[in-house]
Amino acid sequence: MTLPSGIGNRLLAALPPADLDLLAPELEIVALDRDAVVSRAGDQTEHVLFPHSGAISVMIDMANGQTVASAAIGREGAVGTLSVLGPSPAAVTAIVRAAGTASRIPASRFHAAFNQSPAIRHAIQIHFKAMVIQFQVGGACNALHPVQARMARWLLHLRDRVDHDVLPLTQEALSQILGVRRTTVTLLMRNLRASGAIKSERRCEIEIDPSRLAAVACECRETMRSEVEEIFSRNVAPPRALVLPTQ
Ligand SMILES: [Zn+2]
Repeated sequence: MTLPSGIGNRLLAALPPADLDLLAPELEIVALDRDAVVSRAGDQTEHVLFPHSGAISVMIDMANGQTVASAAIGREGAVGTLSVLGPSPAAVTAIVRAAGTASRIPASRFHAAFNQSPAIRHAIQIHFKAMVIQFQVGGACNALHPVQARMARWLLHLRDRVDHDVLPLTQEALSQILGVRRTTVTLLMRNLRASGAIKSERRCEIEIDPSRLAAVACECRETMRSEVEEIFSRNVAPPRALVLPTQ
């Protein structure tokens, strides 16, 4: 396939051309349709996805049917990368929250390139570090911070990935992400509208005021964002650089 000249995914963009060429013949551009389940807990991982745009939430499914989101993935990350540790069923479910596009590669082909290329392994290490930070901070946040602050955090996570103040979200989706009842989301939405942090809510779209919402969100959004940016700045050479990172 021909990769776009401006690769949207930051992990792919960080690869030297020779390493990207290991993946390119097997990469295909696919649409990320809103609400699509791109990975389901318990299923074998067939593909690794590198989003160029859009936003995906990583969901934990409890036995009683409850769900809660544990991480957000956009163009800075990938889905299905744990498959490089060996074939095993996916532990989590990944759902597209904001539509976009992604590059997709069969997991077996990605595994082969991963074994061949130190630069690809390095990119995946960066992704794993970023995900661990999300899981760690998110775990503390879910236990310690009020649901309104968590909801504001999540709206901003999605806004960071879609670069738009109108978010394609329903109250039902927020209820799944936050692990709370729909009626709780309705109440929180009313509070945030009254404060101006949410400007409007139509059937499937929520328009936010990012600066007002940031004042409501807990510290975790900024902690995650700054730590992930630091990982990228410390570990990623300028896009398309021909020099591998020094070991
Ligand atoms: Zn928090």
